Formats: sequence, C-alpha cells, structure tokens
Amino acid sequence: MRYISTRGGMPPKSFSEILLSGLSPDGGLAIPEAYPKIDADELKTWRGMNYQSLAFEVLSRFADDIPADDLQEIIARTYTEEIFGSDDITPLKTLEPGFHILALSNGPTLAFKDIAMQLLGNLFEYTLGKSGETLNILGATSGDTGSSAEYAMRGKQGIRVFMLSPHGKMSRFQTAQMFSLQEENIFNIAIRGVFDDCQDIVKAVSNDHAFKQAQRIGTVNSINWARVMAQIVYYFKGYFAATQSNEEEVSFAVPSGNFGNICAGHVARMMGLPIRQLILATNENDVLDEFFKTGVYRPRTTRETKHTSSPSMDISKASNFERFVYDLTGRDAEKVTELWSAVDRGQAFDLSNLSLFRKIKDFGFVSGNSNHAARIATIREIYDKYQVLVDTHTADGLRVGQALREQDVPLICMETAQPAKFSESIQEAIGQEPPRPAGYENLENLPQRYVIKDVDVEAIKAYIAEHSKD
Ligand SMILES: *Cc1c(COP(=O)(O)O)cnc(C)c1O
Repeated sequence: MRYISTRGGMPPKSFSEILLSGLSPDGGLAIPEAYPKIDADELKTWRGMNYQSLAFEVLSRFADDIPADDLQEIIARTYTEEIFGSDDITPLKTLEPGFHILALSNGPTLAFKDIAMQLLGNLFEYTLGKSGETLNILGATSGDTGSSAEYAMRGKQGIRVFMLSPHGKMSRFQTAQMFSLQEENIFNIAIRGVFDDCQDIVKAVSNDHAFKQAQRIGTVNSINWARVMAQIVYYFKGYFAATQSNEEEVSFAVPSGNFGNICAGHVARMMGLPIRQLILATNENDVLDEFFKTGVYRPRTTRETKHTSSPSMDISKASNFERFVYDLTGRDAEKVTELWSAVDRGQAFDLSNLSLFRKIKDFGFVSGNSNHAARIATIREIYDKYQVLVDTHTADGLRVGQALREQDVPLICMETAQPAKFSESIQEAIGQEPPRPAGYENLENLPQRYVIKDVDVEAIKAYIAEHSKD
C-alpha cells in the first residue's frame, strides 16, 4: 500500500513514512493510492471474527510495512477489555429490531476518539523505538482531542505531549481529566485566552520550521491518516453485529465535526462493506450539512462558529473533508488543489452546477442538522422509550438518523461520548445527573498538574525548549 497526496504533489510513500504527520508537503492530505477491496469470501470469514482479529485484517491492509507479528502485538495491547471496558470493544446496543447504537465511547476519556488515539500512541512508540527518534507532540484542545491524546501518550517512551487549553474555559470534568495526569511526559499548559488563541499559538510554532525541526514537533490532529484507518474497523464490527448475513445492508448515522469518523465509514464502503446510507449529522454548525444539501462548501469564520451543547462538533471547517472530495472528483488532484486554494483563503467553493455533485448519492451520503432543543428532546425520548441515556453528540446523530433513514434498512447510530461528560444537558433533559462510570467518581478531587501561561508564542517556545531536553 502506497500513500499519495490529495493535491498530487507527493511521491508515493509507505505507511510508516506518513504515520507521524498525515499532512503532505504540498498542503494536501495523505490517502491510499487505491482502497483495498474485500471480496465476498473474505467478508464471510470476517463475520465470525472478534474485534482484535478484525482489526488485524483491516489494519494490515493499510499498514503493510509493519511486520505482521508486530502489528498483531500492537493490536493485542491496544484493544483490551481493561482499556475499553469489554472484550467487544465497541458493543452494539439494540434499542429495537433494526435500530441500534454502536458504543464507541468506553475508552479512558469516554469519547470515541480513544479508539484511534490509543492505537496511535502504540504505533508512535513502536516506530520511534525502531528509529531511535523522539517526538514532542504539540496540540490545542477545547476538550476531547487533548485528553484523548494525553491518555494515549502517557508514559510512552520517546514521546512528550505539550497541550494548550483555554484557562478556565473547559468543563470541570474535562479539566480534571487532563490535569490529573501525573506522568512526567505530559505537559498541560493553560493559556490565559480562548481556544482560538491556543490554536494560533500552535500554528505560529508550527510555522517556525527551524524550531519545529530542532524540537522535533509533531501533532496528532484529526487529519492523521492512522486515526481514520483505526476507525474503519468498527464500521465492519457494527455491520456484522447488526446483521445475520452479508446480503443485508445497513445505514450509519454519524455525529460529525471534522469529518474523521464518517470518512472512515466512507472508506469502509469503498472497500466493499454493504452500507446503504452514510447519514451525516451536524449541530448548529452546519457547514457540512449545507454542502451535502446544496453543493456549496463555505468554511465559517471563527466569529460565525457557535458554542453549542454538543461542543466537540463546533467546527468552522472540516479538516478531513478534502479526502472525500478527492474521491468525489474521481481522484482529480488538480481539481482538489483548485478548490482548496479557495478554502485556504477562507473562501467558499460551489459544486452545485457540476455533474459530480449528483454523484454524492452514489457515495451513500445524506445529511441533516440538529440544535439544542432537538437534542434535549431526543435525549429525553430515547430515555423514556428505551431507558437508554445518551450524550448530546449521540443525540444529534439519533435525531438526524431517525429522520433520514430508509424504513427497511437497519440503522446504526454512532455513540461518540458518554453522557457523564455533559451533565448540564442531561439534567436539562431528564431532571437528574447522569451516572458516573466506575473509576471516575472522584475525578474532580484528584491533585492537578499544569502551568498557566499568557498568549505569548515566544514564552511557549521557551517552555517547550526547556522541557523537551532528553
Ligand atoms: C470529535 C467528536 C465528534 C466529531 O467527530 P469527527 O470525526 O470530528 O467528525 C463527535 N462527537 C464527539 C463526542 C467527539 O469527540
């Protein structure tokens, strides 16, 4: 398997060569030269497999320059009952026949990002161990991504994490989750500013190429191909769990932000998984819903981006979306380069008059959006009807999924976080606190480890330089 860039400017590379970044030098995203096709016989064998074997089958097709024994060992260490709460890793909950929730958020930070990030942590450690290099991961977070990265990288050889977050602006639960980590390789930096200030600092540091190289700075953001790859596995797992035979089709409803989760569903479908619809759900930040309905992709400004009660979907543009558009254009790198030269200048593009916009149906995509009132009502309805409590993001997916599904096709809604993380909205919906999963009861009372810094790029650079010495 070789990887190329969505903008056509990268000579083909191996998986290990694109693992640590995902962004190619021409500004595009790394993507397989061709997707592996899974034939009927293989799909039949896969049906009987547990999560770990299935993961090996899927991942070994993409990460084919890692020796099979090593990959198997990495998977066995990553996808355990101890880390994900059950041997199923992503158990299927059936609400009623043909209507399911795929539980993706039973990892350490109670959000689905753990599934990919835990693998990334072990893959990074493995590759760095082989080359003898070290890596300093720099990131900005308003919640889920940062904590999931820290829990994946804690205690890992050769890796340090410098995570910026807006001081006093995350929920108490999220803050405690990150700041209570005591590992020496984790550096929590609370910035006196908002999330965008944190992100601007990361951009400024990354644009200082000399510093970046000298300090071996890397990222773990959602454009990383290995994260998409890891997420493909549970589409297969969910499909097998919800069907009796490979003749059947299913639809997936996916609460979406940066288009990483549903991009994995798209790849699974391209590999031959019988997916009827990929139902994309947004919250009030509906940049993707607008595209799938109208063909116009108009990235929002920071000012237009709303703070909602499903905060992990509050995005102004969707970083993984370029991978889908690459496929939509029939893998036309020149076209993608042209479209994203507008996006990179903050401008919109419009495909509505082109025949390729009609192809969206061939890719199974439909979309809808949700809002605060709808998600609160959905949480209440699902709780009253099925005695199942879902979080605000999952509720957006359920809402849109139920509205857009085809009646005779089973629907699987992706559960992307646990309700315990969003107690305010749960209170509003059902008048009581969400239950805390075991082990998290005392989280906010644990000792915290962090530093507070001003919005000052040079000061952050100095801090990194000082703390990244071997
Ligand atoms: C990150 C996240 C999403 C959005 O997923 P994308 O891959 O960015 O589309 C949805 N829900 C939760 C809880 C998340 O953390």
